[in-house]
Amino acid sequence: MTLPKVGYGYDVHRLAAGQTLILGGVQITKDFGTIAHSDGDVLLHAICDALLGAAGLGDIGKHFPDTDERFSGISGLVLLHETKILVSNAGFEIGNIDSTLILERPKIAPFIATMIHEIASALEKEPTDISIKATTSEGLGFVGVGEGIAAHAVVLLARLEGE
Ligand code: MG
Repeated sequence: MTLPKVGYGYDVHRLAAGQTLILGGVQITKDFGTIAHSDGDVLLHAICDALLGAAGLGDIGKHFPDTDERFSGISGLVLLHETKILVSNAGFEIGNIDSTLILERPKIAPFIATMIHEIASALEKEPTDISIKATTSEGLGFVGVGEGIAAHAVVLLARLEGE
């Protein structure tokens, strides 16, 4: 029996006024967002790391280094799709993804269905395979004071048939 592989990802980005906030491939606000070499999409970065980890392929920094100009401002959805190709080429199929965003504001509940749709499209999965939850940090720590945003993700991968 081939056991499935679990993967875990975590990401943090600093927040600042005058920046765009993009989460799950969806633009949330234009006036208070993440500072990053890429588009700063913490949710998609955490999911990419979980996928790469489950497949034993290292992490997002190994494949898409922030010292490489090719990845300047790059969309998290592009990174996610590229990661899906890496995982597929390694012989794995994505089962499901569960994730949690941690931020104080704004409320992102109205955006979650669109985020799930974007992620499912990039991964060629069904929306029912993707879960996004959100919570605050109750005013505690760097997330609580609005200095940053964090995301956690777990994934399950199965071996493709015949691999
Ligand atoms: Mg990141």
